[in-house]
Amino acid sequence: MAAGDPPLTLGDLADIPVERLRGVGDKRTKALSTQGIETVLDLLQHYPRRYIDRTRQAHIEDLAIGEEATVVGEVRRVSSRRTRNRRTLTTVEFGDGTGRLSLTFFNQPWRERQLSEGTQAIVYGRIDLYRGRRQMSNPVVDLVGDRTGRIIPIYPQSEKAGLHTWDLAAFVEEALSRCRARGLADPVPESVLDRFDFIDREAAFNGIHHPESMPEKSEARRRLVFDELLRVQLELVRRKSRIERETAGVVHQVDGELVDAFHGRLPFPLTGAQQRVITEISSDLVLPRPMHRLLQGDVGSGKTVVAVTALLMAVQGGMQGALMAPTEVLAEQHHLGIAALLEGMVVPDPSTLMGDRPLRVELLVNRIGAADRRRVLADLVMGKVDIVIGTHALIQEKVEYHSLGMVVIDEQHRFGVEQRAALRDKGNTGAAPDVLVMTATPIPRTAAMTVYGDLDVSVLDEMPPGRTPIKTIWARTDLEEVAVWSDIREAVAEGRQAYVVCPLIDESESLDVRSAEETHARLVHDELAGLRVGLLHGRVAPELKESTMADFRDGRIDVLVATTVIEVGVDVPNATIMVVLDAGRFGIAQLHQLRGRVGRGSHESRCYLVGDPATPDGEARINALVGTTDGFRLAEIDLELRGEGTIMGERQKGRNDLKLASLRRDREWVESARMVAFEIIDSDPELDDHPGLRDEIDLVLADDEAEFLMKG
Ligand code: ADP
Ligand code: MG
Repeated sequence: MAAGDPPLTLGDLADIPVERLRGVGDKRTKALSTQGIETVLDLLQHYPRRYIDRTRQAHIEDLAIGEEATVVGEVRRVSSRRTRNRRTLTTVEFGDGTGRLSLTFFNQPWRERQLSEGTQAIVYGRIDLYRGRRQMSNPVVDLVGDRTGRIIPIYPQSEKAGLHTWDLAAFVEEALSRCRARGLADPVPESVLDRFDFIDREAAFNGIHHPESMPEKSEARRRLVFDELLRVQLELVRRKSRIERETAGVVHQVDGELVDAFHGRLPFPLTGAQQRVITEISSDLVLPRPMHRLLQGDVGSGKTVVAVTALLMAVQGGMQGALMAPTEVLAEQHHLGIAALLEGMVVPDPSTLMGDRPLRVELLVNRIGAADRRRVLADLVMGKVDIVIGTHALIQEKVEYHSLGMVVIDEQHRFGVEQRAALRDKGNTGAAPDVLVMTATPIPRTAAMTVYGDLDVSVLDEMPPGRTPIKTIWARTDLEEVAVWSDIREAVAEGRQAYVVCPLIDESESLDVRSAEETHARLVHDELAGLRVGLLHGRVAPELKESTMADFRDGRIDVLVATTVIEVGVDVPNATIMVVLDAGRFGIAQLHQLRGRVGRGSHESRCYLVGDPATPDGEARINALVGTTDGFRLAEIDLELRGEGTIMGERQKGRNDLKLASLRRDREWVESARMVAFEIIDSDPELDDHPGLRDEIDLVLADDEAEFLMKG
């Protein structure tokens, strides 16, 4: 690498294998490879997981009992013995020139090897007094070799591969010094660097790996986080704009009699949020490019009205609409509800005497029987069906449309590139139908930008009036649980109804079923004796399921004991109590969905979360539910508790480029990166004027990974 050559790009770094570095031989190369480090780029992106600030280290002679402290020193002596209750106790005499400290470790026999005499280490822990001597028990230990410097980076290391943090630090240092002659290229436009006051990329890599001070490290991190997020956003925005430029869409007739008539006959005015979202949708639908929009709205926020409005916008222009639900049961429920909403409406039909005919909404699921199915399929091709409701089967090969213009996908996470392509062909008009994806699982804004960055996002953030607030109560003790059952009895005596959701059992559906059956039997004989108690779970035969639901809806059953099959779609306004047994085992989103089953009528509702969870996370989840009914707030808390892995996991498997950036910590940077990405792509859609950025995206977000960004 000679001076005079152009600065090194990330692509250049990715072309240099680690064995080219001094000190990295065959054995090290193999070890690094087990950590996913093959190239100099991998190495430079193997960031320290934390730092030790030696300027804040304490001297042993100054340590006070009860204090937590970081001490840098050397192992003087180490020994292990068995205690009376047959645990190993390893004791390390540790000194720093000002005094001595003993470190004790229980049941960690490997410490004897790790902390052999003469080893330099940094230990962190609380100082106790034991038999007149100062000690730390089970301190955090970092081996740092003989590294000096004020700030010591601690790398993710692997005992097994024999890679220590100081090895990694040395390799990184060697790599950085080899880069110095040519320098690192910085493809991010100057104007962006200036606007955010970013340091250059080479300084950032140096600063993240061996900062002189903690503020220097923070500056470096800020810059590198932005780079990661910018790459992801550029890729998403580039693809989004490409689809918009290259795919022809339907220009819908968004103003028309059907939509007006529909809104006019609703027994309530639209909420402000519904109006706003409908405007967002219609401004997409009048454009000659396909809409691909995500509608987020909490349970009960009134998504159905919005969905039907969008479908009618297609229908009033003479096209067809389809609504896909995740299960047949939910499709049936949607069909019932939507058919009722549209009952008696007519669409123009010049071939009839009156010039119009009834608007037709059909259900297409397996249960309707072969003859009905054939009829619906035939009428779909003829254009005699206006709105069809079903599952994913609606976009399978066998279903043909006359002119499909609008597709609504409910409660759906898995709608990917192939489905998008399938839809384009279904349109049958040469234009791709518009797509509205609805979800009742809100995800935080910045996460949505990263995970669904290729979609436009609309949010229904206002509940229709008339929902009574739900009180959420944690019934932690047996005594508190007793009160739950007597509350149900009182409510039933007043004519109300209740749900009881049974403990979730991870292992298998059959265990879930058994648990539901046992709970049902117990309640019938004991706590709820004398009440009419129904049972619903995944193995109940469809006809029985149907009749049980109908009995509950019509008030012939007081209490419905169920598994999470009732999670979505069930709407019985007279049900005012939701009991979730062993609530600590459910996720936040799931509990929130379950709670959304009540509070749908004018009576005051309660949600009881029963049980004493064994884990702090379980407690935190229950507390979150008790603390708020705001789905977006809960989604934020869920993100805090679970980390972004789970959210990213929904759409993005495998590797992703976010090594430093966190969707939680770096929210504001997600937004900034997205803004910058739009600015760049707006004026340079294929990044022809930004070849450095384009190469980087192609390098780190290889094609198949970018596909993952797009699908679910
Ligand atoms: P979601 O699908 O978002 O959970 P729904 O569309 O099922 O919510 O609506 C929940 C309930 O609120 C339904 O009973 C619906 O009739 C009612 N609703 C919808 N919009 C309004 C509104 N603007 N005012 C009053 N009630 C509404
Ligand atoms: Mg719904």
